[in-house]
Amino acid sequence: MSDATVPTGSTPHPPTVGFVSLGCPKALTDSELILTQLSAQGYQTSKTFQGADLVIVNTCGFIDDAVKESLDTIGEALAENGRVIVTGCLGAKTGADGSNMVRSMHPKVLAVTGPHATQEVMDAVHAHLPKPHDPFVDLVPNAFGIAGIKLTPRHYAYLKISEGCNHRCTFCIIPSMRGDLVSRPVGDVLSEARALLEGGVKELLVISQDTSAYGVDVKYRTGFWDGKPVKTRMLELVQALGELAQPFGAWVRLHYVYPYPSVDDILPLMASGAILPYLDVPLQHSHPDVLRRMKRPASGEKNLERIQQWRAACPELVIRSTFIAGFPGETEAEFQHLLDFVEAAEIDRAGCFAYSPVDGAAANALPGMLPAALREERRIRFMEVAERVSAQRLQRRVGAVMQVLVDSAPGLGKKGGVGRSYADAPEIDGIVRLLPPEKISKTLKVGEFTRARIVSAQGHDLLAQPI
Ligand code: SF4
Repeated sequence: MSDATVPTGSTPHPPTVGFVSLGCPKALTDSELILTQLSAQGYQTSKTFQGADLVIVNTCGFIDDAVKESLDTIGEALAENGRVIVTGCLGAKTGADGSNMVRSMHPKVLAVTGPHATQEVMDAVHAHLPKPHDPFVDLVPNAFGIAGIKLTPRHYAYLKISEGCNHRCTFCIIPSMRGDLVSRPVGDVLSEARALLEGGVKELLVISQDTSAYGVDVKYRTGFWDGKPVKTRMLELVQALGELAQPFGAWVRLHYVYPYPSVDDILPLMASGAILPYLDVPLQHSHPDVLRRMKRPASGEKNLERIQQWRAACPELVIRSTFIAGFPGETEAEFQHLLDFVEAAEIDRAGCFAYSPVDGAAANALPGMLPAALREERRIRFMEVAERVSAQRLQRRVGAVMQVLVDSAPGLGKKGGVGRSYADAPEIDGIVRLLPPEKISKTLKVGEFTRARIVSAQGHDLLAQPI
């Protein structure tokens, strides 16, 4: 019998999953994948049954001894803990009467899956032990009203590089809750990235409150990874992530990048394909006076010029951003500046929230609070413009061949599927609807890439023919 655990995040009292891994190296890989997902989603894992909130037993069903050892282990886990999920080869075995062997021997188990069933196991874990936190939603100021976003990482994973924030945007209370920026050691981040990639993750989503500021708190000190010095700085981190992901054919996507001049250095990595040419830049507004009232990071930067330079350096670049309409004191002229900016900057994906005051936010004390109806009216006007810009950008893709990461493909895609291109971050952007492959031999598999020819653009989404 072998145990496998991975250390998990820093939530004060995260739910704990006891984990036992039995069997061959393939079963061990399944265990690593499940443990990676547990870790990425904030669960603590332990080698013991006692004190755990539930137990997962990854079983072996190969020879009689292994079957006995698996059944005995399930029995022990039930006796000592009581809440048990069974996965692995034995989970797929039926007895002489055709019934599931594990269920007939141990009817009290919470769930049983076969091998290679990470998502089914995670679904069972979620049903019996809710997710401790949603890494993306945790990073989004709730005041923007998008706390309802649900993410279920499968073949993609969030890689949190820092916690907290040194800024004091007047509409945001995150720094008062989470404190100043604390960057994770670069070696830890890269080790986690490697574990995720080795566990089958095909898309790493780099998240933080302020990705461009990575390492500021430690003065960009030089850390170590794989015996080599690496600076605690966005450029070096992203470079290393690109190198790590390359042999796995995996994507690296950057979120929460503020438009500092240092971001310019990342663009060649995007142009060369080392990381995805995608930037999630939460701009919130364009007018310098509004940005100053918001106390936004990089508010003094010439964002339109910067974006245009980025596009010149990397024509494939896709930019997603969020904006606030109706910030206190916003004049019609300032709002119009924002509308003009979205058109000129050709923001590919934009979200917009009507300003809403958050308890404890400094912006509440600003003069010129606009009536709620006007804030909402501006939000609607913004979205009309942003959606038109977005649709024009999408239309340009028709006829192109794109790499698509498959998110869903019932029946191996015989009736089509759903995926995403580099231009679509999970849950927040559009999707690529995949038609059934024309070639009979071609299948679509969740978590694998397929090439597809874009046949049309529909709203925020694309329709494509796998080739
Ligand atoms: S950058 Fe501004 S909005 Fe973002 S977490 Fe920091 S204070 Fe809040």
